[in-house]
Amino acid sequence: MPLDVKSAREIVLAECLKVDPERRGSESVDLLDCLGRTIAEPILLDRDQPPFDRSMRDGYAIRAEDVRNVPASLRYVGEVKAGEWPSMDLREGEAVQIMTGAPAPVGADAVVMVEHTEQINPGSLRVLRSVRQGENIANRGSEQSEGATVFSSGTKLSAFGMAVLASVGKRRVKVFRRPTVAILATGDELVDIEENPSPSQIRNSNSYSLYAQVLRSGAIPKILKIARDNLFDLRRQIALGIQEDVLLISGGVSMGKYDLVEPVLSELGVQVHFDSVNMRPGKPTVFATHGSQFVFGLPGNPVSTFVAFELFVLPVLQRLQGLKPGGLSLVRGTLEQEVFEKSGRTAFLPARVFGRPGRNVISAIAWKGSADIFSIVAANGLLVVPLETSSLRAGDEVEALLFDEFQSEGPF
Ligand code: AMP
Ligand code: MG
Repeated sequence: MPLDVKSAREIVLAECLKVDPERRGSESVDLLDCLGRTIAEPILLDRDQPPFDRSMRDGYAIRAEDVRNVPASLRYVGEVKAGEWPSMDLREGEAVQIMTGAPAPVGADAVVMVEHTEQINPGSLRVLRSVRQGENIANRGSEQSEGATVFSSGTKLSAFGMAVLASVGKRRVKVFRRPTVAILATGDELVDIEENPSPSQIRNSNSYSLYAQVLRSGAIPKILKIARDNLFDLRRQIALGIQEDVLLISGGVSMGKYDLVEPVLSELGVQVHFDSVNMRPGKPTVFATHGSQFVFGLPGNPVSTFVAFELFVLPVLQRLQGLKPGGLSLVRGTLEQEVFEKSGRTAFLPARVFGRPGRNVISAIAWKGSADIFSIVAANGLLVVPLETSSLRAGDEVEALLFDEFQSEGPF
């Protein structure tokens, strides 16, 4: 009996939660190589942010009280550049020219923008607009205080995250080790892409989509030589593949006479947790473990391989690098057209998800079966058709899993 998708995912989650990312180890990496990596240490602020009362504008540091009635004349007593410490305190009736990012002198409680002033002569200034107390000054510690935890361990580093680490002076960052993933395509009909296929042969494309999916998840892909549909080749290549953290095998897991992956896995002492999931595409997906290694048998049809990766492999790769094993994000939206789904399985149909003002629209992409990668290159998600649903109407509220950026169709 095939497992339902939810139970299958729970088995995968339970297995990958047994892995302790701390015990898999971490490495110290230059900040510039950290984008997309998962931080393996909490990041604390080493000083208040901002570290001093910082001017947010080019203008004049003043006392708000002195410009309550405008125009107001003030004495010009000096300047502070960014990077300098003010050489004087500010007294009543005085103005100090100040640049964006410079520390405000003691005694000043606001900055008036240069645009709202006129220089009368070298020693005096006319202020044309009043300012509130505190205006255009970011006070010391107003963003964050020294010692605050800005990132906890297990955070994936974004571009902004890089800026945060730079601002606390992290040249090298402790990050979780990236899992290595062996990719093994199987099939007598497959040829490498450099070769000229004979009329009965096809080019191996799964290794390339899997390579991209692995890379995008943050793990390290390693493509193995194609294994032929015989026990000798499969044993040798699978034995090689299970030396990595994760082995992805595409093909050879269906009901055909030469689908020999499962018997070879059992022979090598790999523990198979399930080998059939009630879903379309991707029914014959195999999930197995071998000690602390993970092995997946993904059905060979290119769309099936792709979908089974996103549903079952991605959470494992996330966990192995210290992230929450959340998988893809689920979005809701309005279905654009009728969809009939009579397979009696949970269906994950290639779809385009886009944002329109006030709602998401989910549009199923017409495709000609699990081998048809050509129709669905534009997909950025998978429309989920629940087990008990056999048809959906245009306008229905539906769910989709997003695997790519989301396109907005609204006015920018
Ligand atoms: P299998 O799961 O081995 O029965 O393969 C199912 C279908 O997927 C067959 O039509 C295969 O030719 C095709 N297929 C298997 N592996 C690959 C691959 N690496 N690249 C492209 N198509 C494949
Ligand atoms: Mg095959």
